[in-house]
Amino acid sequence: TLLDIVALMLGLIHFGVPLAYYFYMKKKYLNKPWNIRVDENYRPKVSIILPTYNESRIIQARLDNIRGQDYPKSLMEVIVVDSNSSDGTAELVEESASRHRDIELRLIREGERRGKAHALNHGLKHATGEIVVIADADAMWPREALSETMKWFADPGVGAVSCLKKPVGSGVNSVEEGYREYYNVLRIAESKAHATPVFHGELGAFRRSLLEKLNGFPTDIGADDSHTATRIALMGYRAITPENILVEEIVPERGYFWWRVRRAQHLIQHFAKTLWMMKQAPREFKWVLAVEAFLHLVNPFLLLASITLLVASIATAQSTLALAITTLGVVLLVVKPYRTWIAQQLHLIIATFRNLKNKE
Ligand code: GDP
Ligand code: MN
Repeated sequence: TLLDIVALMLGLIHFGVPLAYYFYMKKKYLNKPWNIRVDENYRPKVSIILPTYNESRIIQARLDNIRGQDYPKSLMEVIVVDSNSSDGTAELVEESASRHRDIELRLIREGERRGKAHALNHGLKHATGEIVVIADADAMWPREALSETMKWFADPGVGAVSCLKKPVGSGVNSVEEGYREYYNVLRIAESKAHATPVFHGELGAFRRSLLEKLNGFPTDIGADDSHTATRIALMGYRAITPENILVEEIVPERGYFWWRVRRAQHLIQHFAKTLWMMKQAPREFKWVLAVEAFLHLVNPFLLLASITLLVASIATAQSTLALAITTLGVVLLVVKPYRTWIAQQLHLIIATFRNLKNKE
């Protein structure tokens, strides 16, 4: 029937575009040279901005993690911006600072909570380093993360550098792991093409001069890290995630589903906002941006439409073809990458609707 044909076509586009993009990017870019002049010994002054809101469980371990970097302490400045945490986070930061005087640590206390990006901008005003690194509390950097990040900035064409993520903790599940495998390959390939439009707040490094040109981080959308990187890439600079900077992110045990929906909401806000900027993009980046925007904004709804038509076809015409495809679609859920994909589509669809009423 006609319903079946349309449903099949929508399904083919839904799965075909991301698969084609993945294999195309992998083949064309993954093994290419970076075309960036790195210098392993490049050591600019770094301002690390760590925004906190009720992070008492982890803040001291996180500060120790930053102190443990194999980067010269005289070239590091840590700026913690706490938004009136109610669990004593700020006091723990002060205590940690008084115990270790080997590193310059400044605590900024905001009187009220006005969001992460607002806190980052507050910290940025006090930053003096050539490079600003934003660092979430609930992530741990490997010892060489900073030096590995800074070597890329030796090239003046590099504007921003971020990390890849490795999910850890008891909240990790196969969906989260499968998602990372697929995405990390794309992040590297996109970076080699010119830039990746997805950055991570767990470690996001930016030239301070460029952040100032952009008037800081955007406070109107959730993905302040990704959006800032994209703006920098649109200015012609490289915004990259190298292969070897792997940051551990603690996956929440409870509320995993809504955590992922919140992340998806942020990415949707980010890509919706970039639609108006795409024209000025460097050629290689324009493609990446267009496909990623399609994948986040449109593609999940092709799946939804396809499923709806299949169900309608079964209900109205008792189509055996539609029944067979639907059954196959359900049975395939035992395959991990497929299950991961479907879960992500569900997150994106719910996130789109949730964005209409709650942008947080
Ligand atoms: P997610 O990683 O995107 O899920 O967000 P998190 O809840 O882990 O927040 C990332 C970082 O921003 C953490 O270090 C939080 O403590 C911090 N953060 C979140 N909201 C605020 C805020 O309103 N003010 C400040 N100063 N930090 C915040
Ligand atoms: Mn987090």
